[in-house]
Amino acid sequence: MTLPGDERGGARPVRDELSVPDPTAPRGDRRPAAAGPRPAAARASFQDMWRELSPIGRHADSGGYRRYAWTAADTDCRAWFRTQAEARGLTYEVDRNGNQWAWLGDPAAGDAVVTGSHLDSVPDGGAFDGPLGVVSSFAALDELRARDVTLGRPLALVNFGDEEGARFGLACVGSRLTAGRLTREQAHRLTDGDGVTLPQAMEAAGHDPDAIGADPERLARIGAFVELHVEQGRALDLSGDRVGLASAIWPHGRWRFDFRGEANHAGTTRLVDRRDPMLPYAETVLAARREARFAGAVATFGKISVEPNGVNAIPSLVRGWLDSRAADQATLDTVVTGVEQAAREYAGAHGIDLDVVRESFTPVVEFDHALRDELGRILGTDTDLKVPVLGTGAGHDAGILSGTVPTAMLFVRNPTGVSHSPAEFAAEDDCVAGVHALADVLEGLARR
Ligand SMILES: [Zn+2]
Repeated sequence: MTLPGDERGGARPVRDELSVPDPTAPRGDRRPAAAGPRPAAARASFQDMWRELSPIGRHADSGGYRRYAWTAADTDCRAWFRTQAEARGLTYEVDRNGNQWAWLGDPAAGDAVVTGSHLDSVPDGGAFDGPLGVVSSFAALDELRARDVTLGRPLALVNFGDEEGARFGLACVGSRLTAGRLTREQAHRLTDGDGVTLPQAMEAAGHDPDAIGADPERLARIGAFVELHVEQGRALDLSGDRVGLASAIWPHGRWRFDFRGEANHAGTTRLVDRRDPMLPYAETVLAARREARFAGAVATFGKISVEPNGVNAIPSLVRGWLDSRAADQATLDTVVTGVEQAAREYAGAHGIDLDVVRESFTPVVEFDHALRDELGRILGTDTDLKVPVLGTGAGHDAGILSGTVPTAMLFVRNPTGVSHSPAEFAAEDDCVAGVHALADVLEGLARR
């Protein structure tokens, strides 16, 4: 792995503080986020970092990413983060929960402006969900240095561990632990599909699993957290904007449906004698779609496990996971209750036992209004640029932290609207616009 920008200026000389700006430079030289051409600093460092990160954890056949928490690919991503931090002379540290931090200024000074996202992925995920926010954080810092600004507050870049929950089934483990929304005991019970526990996986990757837990001192250092993320929908594409601001994250959760019947021979068992759990499961999938459509919400059975999982065997168990999200709590309750009631009716009709377990839940997150308004002002300072404000159905570390820390999110246009898939995309010009928006925001917040 090469250091960034040896020839192209991505790695800056090591400096403890950003230098003093040129007082003669007119304020109007600072251009807003989505405006036209900019100095090349951010683009060059973005390109360098993107190129380095791209091969890590990419699956040759699918073209998607398999960067699961505490695996070799995750370790490589984390090494990349550390290299970027150290190349810029930032103070690097790993917190008790395995989240990585890179500090400019004194971490203990308090009221820090923090930005970042995550580097892990869903199974065969896209390149942008998570990494765009982390890469943009470093590129925004490079942009600030190119602008030669002085910051009056500490600045930190962060890579939150295990955001997607792809391996252990619970999203945002790193930030949940830090915020005290997941206890050490609960985390220690998490187990992956191969029976490896979270503590075992952490230990194998060189992190002490007994150290994990709430970290209020760390959160108390943060004055504002801003996460930049690729949009996971098409609102910006439809509005024609490169960058948007988040208003809220929809309440969302995961429910496990266990349909239990009786395994038997697929050839010799008469249809009337079967107790086949696949049938009510299939009807429940359709019910989820129907309930979500009626309510203006979303509901998805995207993961299933079947026992004994034989082509010529009637299943004994069909376990399906429901993911559902809605703009408000009451709507989400209506959808999930409706799906469960339907599932119980179908299961009863087929002689099948059903258990429904809520595995995780995150209530609605309204991002800090004052911080959001301030970001809106910063991004519109020099022109009449209006940054659209969007709600999202996707969960984020920013949502977890928002209960404790003033938090905001920036979204970058994704023309396909596709996410959690190799088709996830953002054009380089839009990514660079995002970097500039983030740099504007960090500068505007930290100059105070
Ligand atoms: Zn993400």
